[in-house]
Amino acid sequence: MRETKFIFITGGVLSSLGKGMAAASLGALLKTRGLSVTIQKLDPYINVDPGTMNPSQHGEVFVTDDGAETDLDLGHYERFLGTPLSQKNNYTSGSIYYSVISKERRGDYLGGTVQVIPHITDEIKLAICGLAENKTDVAIIEIGGTVGDIESQPFLEAIRQLRGDLGKDRCLFIHLTLVPYLAAAGEHKTKPTQHSVKELRGIGIHPDIILCRCETPVSRELKRKIALFCDVDEDAVFSSVDVDNIYKLPLEFYEEGLDQKVAIMLRLPARNADLAAWKKLVALLGDLKGSVTIGIVGKYVSLKEAYKSLHEALVHGGLANGVEVVLKYINSEDVAPDTVRDILSGLDGILVPGGFGDRGVEGKIITVGYARENDIPFFGICLGLQCAVIEFARNVAGLGGANSEEFDTEAEHKVIYLMTEWLDHHKNARVKRDKYSDKGGTMRLGAYPCTLKEESIAFSAYGRKQIGERHRHRYEVNNVYRGPLEEAGMFFSGLSPDGELVEIIELPGHPWFLGCQFHPEFKSNPMNPHPLFREFILAAQKYANRAGL
Ligand code: GLN
Repeated sequence: MRETKFIFITGGVLSSLGKGMAAASLGALLKTRGLSVTIQKLDPYINVDPGTMNPSQHGEVFVTDDGAETDLDLGHYERFLGTPLSQKNNYTSGSIYYSVISKERRGDYLGGTVQVIPHITDEIKLAICGLAENKTDVAIIEIGGTVGDIESQPFLEAIRQLRGDLGKDRCLFIHLTLVPYLAAAGEHKTKPTQHSVKELRGIGIHPDIILCRCETPVSRELKRKIALFCDVDEDAVFSSVDVDNIYKLPLEFYEEGLDQKVAIMLRLPARNADLAAWKKLVALLGDLKGSVTIGIVGKYVSLKEAYKSLHEALVHGGLANGVEVVLKYINSEDVAPDTVRDILSGLDGILVPGGFGDRGVEGKIITVGYARENDIPFFGICLGLQCAVIEFARNVAGLGGANSEEFDTEAEHKVIYLMTEWLDHHKNARVKRDKYSDKGGTMRLGAYPCTLKEESIAFSAYGRKQIGERHRHRYEVNNVYRGPLEEAGMFFSGLSPDGELVEIIELPGHPWFLGCQFHPEFKSNPMNPHPLFREFILAAQKYANRAGL
């Protein structure tokens, strides 16, 4: 039987050093050596999952096939590994405490005093060791936060204990730290790294490898100095340089010899990395011809991370067409009938992404109308589909006052609504009874099947009739209005297999107009761009060429 080896990645000095990217890139690199790899994120915050957090603060909520609402780093992991992850790949302090407290309430601890050590740390170890199933060769565990934070201490204590439990051959500690370049002094500075390692050693963790985030590669001499001060092997200090494209990082790490050192230290089978696919990808990145400009009209535009997977999926769509994708984030609250033309001019494609709540919705509806009337390629995702249905109902199907129940419970035509009767009939459907609010609603979460109609953009993109995509929403297209909308020219090209749920809409006659109730962006990766993004960018390219004539 194979024994799973664990690599723990901690961060020091600053947050945002790219621990997630480092974990994903190292994972990708180990995968090229023929190993099966998984990655887990342990987040120090108290929320049970990020589902309740505002994307403008915390970034996007990434959804897995099994319906887990997870940290956006899981999106990086999936895109770099090319394999789907699950609920097991993300735990928070909140979820760990929730489970310990539930056990305590059930009486599982037999009257004992429940404490951080050993109860919380045991629960963390259980979460980590849960990855050892499924013939995983290597599990990489990223500890969120920065060493020294109060919140992450139980996680660090748990991994310290695990090293003792499992032994040196099965556990490796990598510490990612900042090595700043001081222009005035003309040199890299190692002091912050020394302090951060000191802090880590103070809690009993002795790093095996130090990964130095730096603007330019750290010299051999400096690596030697860091090795000496931090008590690691001389060949265990690596540079993690800034890259202009994240997909270059695995090859950078390879050049540094990181995977080799990890393999030696963990006694992994000695195999060579097969880097052909990554080399091809990096070559393609350097060979993009021309560009298309896509406008993302949403409300979480103040933080780029809020649309992380979407951003990446659009870039992948560009890769599939050999073209650079320039993204313009537009605040839908600025879009009004008298500003729409100015704001949206110059775009080759318009995308209205998912979202919750009514702020900025009217601007999105105006945006859809502009794309529809001006034959601009349009892609609506989740709330984007819902806005497209509302716009079409109001302005084409003659259903004045059409709206979503989410925004107006008194609307005359609730073309989008809470489908409670569907839920009553489908008790086994994977929906999450709303654990956060008393709305009585439920969230349709995770992978659902969808059947495509032939003669549709969707079918020609996917090349097959049965697809499965990930969801995260409460509201659905109201079937009562399907007839009138169809009569007015809307095509329901993708439905749930029982025909009861609208999953995709299109407008035949428009060059490219598609809305989907699911989130295709979660399943795109650079080696395998998602078909809908590929086709959307192709349509934008055609539009750009046409406009250029
Ligand atoms: N707010 C909408 C709903 O809950 C759309 C959600 C989304 O875009 N993810 O149905």
